[in-house]
Amino acid sequence: MERPEPAPGVRESQWRDSIEIMRNQLTVALLLFACALDGEDHKITAVRFAKLWDGEKVVDGALVVIDRGRIRSVLGGNPQPPAGAEVVDWSRYYGLPGLIDVHTHMTYYWDRAPGTLPRGQARMPAVTVFLAQENAKKTLQAGVTSVRDLGSTDYTDIAMRDLINLGAMTGPRMFVCGYGLSTTRGFRPGAGPVSSPGTADSPDEVMQAVRRQIAAGADVIKMYGSIGGFENVGTQQTFTYEEMKAAVEVSHTMGKRIAIHSYGPEGARDAVRAGADSLEHAVDIDDATLAEMARRGTYYVPTIDHNRYYADAAAEFQFRPGSIQGLNAYIARNLETARRAFKAGVKFAMGSDAVYTMFGQNTRELAWFVKIGMTPEQALKTATTNAADLLGAKQDLGWATTGHYADLVAVDGDPLADIQVAIDKVRGVIKGGAVLKLSQ
Ligand SMILES: [Zn+2]
Repeated sequence: MERPEPAPGVRESQWRDSIEIMRNQLTVALLLFACALDGEDHKITAVRFAKLWDGEKVVDGALVVIDRGRIRSVLGGNPQPPAGAEVVDWSRYYGLPGLIDVHTHMTYYWDRAPGTLPRGQARMPAVTVFLAQENAKKTLQAGVTSVRDLGSTDYTDIAMRDLINLGAMTGPRMFVCGYGLSTTRGFRPGAGPVSSPGTADSPDEVMQAVRRQIAAGADVIKMYGSIGGFENVGTQQTFTYEEMKAAVEVSHTMGKRIAIHSYGPEGARDAVRAGADSLEHAVDIDDATLAEMARRGTYYVPTIDHNRYYADAAAEFQFRPGSIQGLNAYIARNLETARRAFKAGVKFAMGSDAVYTMFGQNTRELAWFVKIGMTPEQALKTATTNAADLLGAKQDLGWATTGHYADLVAVDGDPLADIQVAIDKVRGVIKGGAVLKLSQ
């Protein structure tokens, strides 16, 4: 398009601004025209932000126009909202794309009833699904509009995902795995009874167990490649390299990604060599494995903060003496490993490993990421664009740009200057165009 010359006396920058505003108004007019043409009577929502970080860049005076759950346009320079649009005025706030937590256990629910402990509360699966709504709501209120849920029992995660997608339950979009795969060798963190649909003791059984989860409706596969979990910070590998390889091959053949849990370096090395899409938790990862992760694009989900949660909860959970020291020592190694991984160019995604009463604290992991040397923006990418990439959902999630799901978070302050703003100062959440009213 030919650009007209500025009128005499008008500064080039002002001229550019006014062209920008005209262009934006034209876009809004075209948008309304397009809506009128398709003859449907549907609601348009327009959200104002002081600034919007869209996953890559900052848009000043942003107006996000939402149509049928997706972002129709993002315009800068405070343009007028389309006539008839429902306006959400968050012009005091900074906007972000909906955040993504790639490691949760949404169906781990504890009501804190006197005389009970978090694990081992026997319930009907349907009761668990009903009660776990509380976890889902707390997660949304933290600005997390999508999760990858990595381990459940009785397929309660699949039930939650479906209820949320039907609009019958309030919660983040869930990408679920059914049962995490576990062996009968060693401790099985949260993986259900000794013999479950996730139990496998050979490459053949692993392949069957993967197929079983996918047949049940899993979106992603989870494998417990080592012991470790809860107050246990043991690192012993459980599944062999051959078993991991079998799991990766069948998952990928069936079009699914696989996350492998390993608390220690041996399981981490084998998980990476076997081709896992993400490695969960691991400490003391050797340099060759870090280089391999960077080369392959394997995501590291260190879940540093979950051991902080366990250390804080040690008394309430009646952990055995010495647990806090063990957890804190593990955190120090986790932090150091994450620092080395970041330096080595490994890609990160934010996973909280939230369970029980940790929901709502899902994004505290971001502060640890800043501690290892990320800028706040790099940290935010781990919970937006990187996480969307790990989920294989870059077209729908992770960016607040045209065509993506209208998942937005309003925060009070500048999250690119202070990551704590994104963690503690969430003031509004929109998921799929629906405005969630926060309690505060
Ligand atoms: Zn976990």
